[in-house]
Amino acid sequence: MSAVSDRIALVTGGSRGIGRAVVTRLARDGYDIGFCYRSDEQSAALVEKEVRELGRRVLARRVDVTDRTQVRDFVAAAEDELGPATAAVTSAGITRDSPLVLMPDENWDAVLRTNLDGTYNLCRAVAFPMIKRGGGAVVTLSSVAGVAGNAGQTNYSASKAGIIGFTRSLAKEGGRHGIRANTVAPGFIETDMTSVLPPKVSKEMLGRIPLKRFGLPEDVASLVAFLLSPEAAYVTGQVFQVDGGIAL
Ligand code: NAD
Repeated sequence: MSAVSDRIALVTGGSRGIGRAVVTRLARDGYDIGFCYRSDEQSAALVEKEVRELGRRVLARRVDVTDRTQVRDFVAAAEDELGPATAAVTSAGITRDSPLVLMPDENWDAVLRTNLDGTYNLCRAVAFPMIKRGGGAVVTLSSVAGVAGNAGQTNYSASKAGIIGFTRSLAKEGGRHGIRANTVAPGFIETDMTSVLPPKVSKEMLGRIPLKRFGLPEDVASLVAFLLSPEAAYVTGQVFQVDGGIAL
């Protein structure tokens, strides 16, 4: 095993969007990074290169977060190569929007499996190693839809509300072992996930945002970085909205 650092972060969905911004921000903050992605090897290779150029060690793995064995293997490989994780961020997520009455069962299943089970799978795999080394910090990605609900997103909102309950419970359970767990709930952030929305919907959203712009992945990454840092040493079990004020 390589020399053990006190800054080793594992990030799911690190090849693009918010996960990618988190990976590069944390690398800049001095973390070695293990990240996983579902399919886009080209983007993943670019992110890997970026982290190396920042002088940090990196392990990138193609992993389906719904597959428990793959996630455990990813965590074990990262521990082997980088050392035990001190931080974990669950950014892998999908939407499959539909009104409830038209919801294909497979859309319900896919969203819950990816967003909620995926969050469980990573946290389950890192929790014990974190306890063994005396603590760690976890940030999960929810959404304003998980806080307030959103028409057409019963599946997504349920998964993101579940993540909040999961994270608060982890904070209560993990506190005595030095584990902090917080949730970040973004509003409308400019990524591939939101680029598929019809222009009419985007325009209507923009009108509701007091700061009059959509969020950038970096807006989310800076909050995640803060929550993982010693600056947030007394913060746990909280939900932080980074949404330009859309939920006010
Ligand atoms: P994105 O679509 O740009 O990226 C999603 C990432 O998740 C990709 O790297 C993809 O490979 C990965 N992923 C998806 N399914 C996976 C699977 N089964 N296994 C492994 N990786 C998988 O999305 P984003 O906008 O960057 O969103 C990141 C997180 O933030 C998600 O959890 C999303 O729900 C949440 N979020 C995003 C917004 C937004 O406006 N973009 C708002 C609120 C919450």
